[in-house]
Amino acid sequence: MIENPLRALFPQFTQANPVVYLDSAATSHKPQSVIDRTTEFYTAENSNVHRSSHQMAAHTTAQFEAVRKQVQQFIGAANSKEIIWTKGTTESINLVAACLTAQQLKPGSELLVSGLEHHANLVPWQQVAQRFSLSLKIMPVDKQGRLELNQALRLINTNTALVAIAQVSNALGNINPIAAIIAKAKTVGALTLVDGAQAVAHLKVNVQDLGCDFYVFSGHKMYGPTGIGVLYGKQTLLESLPPYQFGGEMIEHVSYQHSSFQTLPYKYEAGTPNIAGVMGLGAALNFMHEHRDVIDDIENQLYRYLINGLSQISGLRLWGEVDNSVAVQSFTVEGLSQQDLVILLNQQNIAIRAGHHCAMPLMQTLGIEGTLRVSLACYNTFDEIDYFLQALKSAITQLS
Ligand code: PLP
Repeated sequence: MIENPLRALFPQFTQANPVVYLDSAATSHKPQSVIDRTTEFYTAENSNVHRSSHQMAAHTTAQFEAVRKQVQQFIGAANSKEIIWTKGTTESINLVAACLTAQQLKPGSELLVSGLEHHANLVPWQQVAQRFSLSLKIMPVDKQGRLELNQALRLINTNTALVAIAQVSNALGNINPIAAIIAKAKTVGALTLVDGAQAVAHLKVNVQDLGCDFYVFSGHKMYGPTGIGVLYGKQTLLESLPPYQFGGEMIEHVSYQHSSFQTLPYKYEAGTPNIAGVMGLGAALNFMHEHRDVIDDIENQLYRYLINGLSQISGLRLWGEVDNSVAVQSFTVEGLSQQDLVILLNQQNIAIRAGHHCAMPLMQTLGIEGTLRVSLACYNTFDEIDYFLQALKSAITQLS
């Protein structure tokens, strides 16, 4: 077993009696460098971007745009113009859903989403389907929570206008076969949107290799601040779509009769952006870049250790695919309420999530109300997993 060299970089865990935090898929904790970077911005650099020409504003604008380039490199985009700042994954998906027009969504078109989606990558497409009178089809999932790839591929046809799928399921942690899905979608000319919210903290992503049209994620699940997220879109596509919101920053020229709009990426960034969030995200990217191999190693070891421990508890069922997963695991315990278990674990200072994980239709497919979900990050330790497994066994005994 390895010592965890990264834990001390997170101030949350240097406090007395820190919580045993097993809920990083909801949001991750932040290293000191991210907290320091946002504080530094407000302390020494606070000014708006792309407006004033004074020295402080010019400095801040340069830093802000440098982070856009960092994101471009982080996901392997061809150009930093393809990186649009949003509030997070939810807003990124809603932006695309709001900007597609009858040109992409012709009568008779079909929208396709997987049966593993977070509501954020389902409900916006339901709304689009209603608005344009299109049908929404679901790529099926088996009783264990795995995407049925062959059936999914058969659903992609010349009527498919868009395929939206998570790279990693937030509810179960399994990794979807997005390469095969995107490849098939391309053969029929369908657009593809990948929800990378649960992927970017754990997997190396290259949007050009994937060939997707859109890729979206949130900063707060990858050690960055809340309120900042990314929409990646292929340049030609973003150029062809209309703007999302209207106001300052996104305009080129305005008269009472007519307005013209900025080029990418500013065309999609109306209003003052979350500048401190962008700076913090830049620090989170530095953190991940510097420690990537260690992060991967720690998470892999911790995940194996967790699965080994959970597998030995009788009556406990693991969901998803343990051999094709990031460090996130859902489980249920036969005959016991997840809420009762969570309450007892919480009394032991353990933070884990129970419920439908914003994936109600998936739970309906699996025939369960919800699961308990352990989600790990690079700051967790083997001792924490031992403590959790012990507390879980005691809670099961107490409730049985
Ligand atoms: N998609 C997935 C797969 C998620 O896990 C989440 C959040 O849990 C979201 C979308 C929504 O992310 P946010 O709330 O940061 O917009």
